[in-house]
Amino acid sequence: MTTQTTVHVKEMYPMFINGQFVTSESGETFTVYNPATGQPLTQVAKGTKADVDAAVAAARKAFDHSRWPSMPFSKRARLLNKIAGIMRKRFDELVQIEVLNTGKTIGTAQGQVMQAIEDFEFFAGAIVAHTGETKPVPPGFFNYTQKEPVGVCAQIIPWNYPFMMAAWKVAPALAAGCTIVLKPASLTPLTALVMAEICHEAGVPEGVLNVITGPGGEIGSYLVEHPDVDKVAFTGETLTGKDIMAKASDTLKRVTLELGGKSANIVFEDADLEAAVNGSLFGIYYNTGQSCEARSRLFVHESVYDQFLNLFIEKAKKLKVGDPFSTDTHVGAVISRGQLETIDSYVQEAVQEGAEIAFGGYSPTIEGFENGHWYMPTVLTHVTNDMKVAQEEIFGPVVVIMPFKDEKEVIQLANDTKYGLAGAVWTKDHARAHRVASGIRAGIIMVNCPFSVFPGLPFGGYKQSGFGRELALETLDLYSETKSVLSYVGPKPLNPFGV
Ligand code: NAD
Repeated sequence: MTTQTTVHVKEMYPMFINGQFVTSESGETFTVYNPATGQPLTQVAKGTKADVDAAVAAARKAFDHSRWPSMPFSKRARLLNKIAGIMRKRFDELVQIEVLNTGKTIGTAQGQVMQAIEDFEFFAGAIVAHTGETKPVPPGFFNYTQKEPVGVCAQIIPWNYPFMMAAWKVAPALAAGCTIVLKPASLTPLTALVMAEICHEAGVPEGVLNVITGPGGEIGSYLVEHPDVDKVAFTGETLTGKDIMAKASDTLKRVTLELGGKSANIVFEDADLEAAVNGSLFGIYYNTGQSCEARSRLFVHESVYDQFLNLFIEKAKKLKVGDPFSTDTHVGAVISRGQLETIDSYVQEAVQEGAEIAFGGYSPTIEGFENGHWYMPTVLTHVTNDMKVAQEEIFGPVVVIMPFKDEKEVIQLANDTKYGLAGAVWTKDHARAHRVASGIRAGIIMVNCPFSVFPGLPFGGYKQSGFGRELALETLDLYSETKSVLSYVGPKPLNPFGV
């Protein structure tokens, strides 16, 4: 069944600076497309360095000269809940814009928008528990620590989960009392702009949240170097993250990075094979494989390899690729023509290196969506872990399936990557599951489970998948400074030099 779109997409989306929607200083715009049709969707303001200056100045002023950073926690919590409430009312609109702008399936978008709302609700509760402490000190002294917002935060996000990534960044920063300049990806800026509208409607004061749109290499980079920015929180490619970290070092900004992945999915011989196949299909093809935590390296015990592979392909054949608004579609569009070409070139290069395409490996033509960007769920076999296709993040619906012999070998293979974001293990042996979970050097492990994200669970990577944890209580520490206050409370005045 195809869902009817009822949303009104505006002809032009301005940026949001200092509590107002504004065009770019240059007056220029850029086109945003619908990946499922390949057709233009709308125009968005193309920000310039002058716009970045204006947004940072607004955020700086709101931080340095307004009551926002010292607003009582309970009041800020109420505001976050109010934002979530408006989002719940505008749920269908947010979902539809997300589908139109990303080509992801409607079910996928519904799940992600709902999770974004729950993130605001989570941080509304969490901030109340984010308090300082009193520490034991010698008699005559008294100490307490106090959490204070870190300042002006530049938040730069990717195109794969536009609304959810915006929520992961904005909700904890608002909760902690920071001010924000958010830059969404140029391919998918729309729902972040709607988020600004909702925050404004809920009563977020002017200058506290600013959203700028435009090319990352220009305005994103300029934002990262801006001397009036205190912290950079970035989600995106590892290479961009390295560039950002280097640029932020000049003014010693606080940096958190959520980067790429090449996560291992391990199926032991005693696993419930049907559940492992179902979970592994979801692990790679969810969101058209455009997930940082996609389980793109599948290791299957050699004794069940053929059985697993046959069942995996049998089920992959049943996945419907196409109309994102159709409720029975499993795999939506790829974000852009460029990304489609990247995916296919990885597959073709792998074949030249000796891999075999066991399923998929091409762009299908979808009736009624001939100009959209589509790629079949793809299975590659005869791959070794040192091949490019097993080491580099493809960010598309492509899995490599490799056999393994024993637990020790598979842990070593799972860790033989520069990344360390996630990993999954399928087995009925709980002791083994937790041995493997602890052996994999990654931030998120799934045991007999296809899901990795619930509000409250720390999300983030080891190694070149970045550092810092989002979505959890400890995230609030990354948007805060801890101040230690020591006072002397003894009866006689102190004279430490004795002079
Ligand atoms: P990207 O690095 O190309 O872009 C991300 C953002 O950075 C965009 O807003 C872009 O405009 C901006 N940008 C680009 N160059 C910049 C520069 N030099 N300085 C400052 N900003 C710049 O990433 P993408 O292609 O949009 O997203 C896909 C990547 O995101 C994948 O690698 C994926 O694994 C990663 N990702 C990671 C997580 C996580 O939590 N670890 C979550 C989602 C996505």
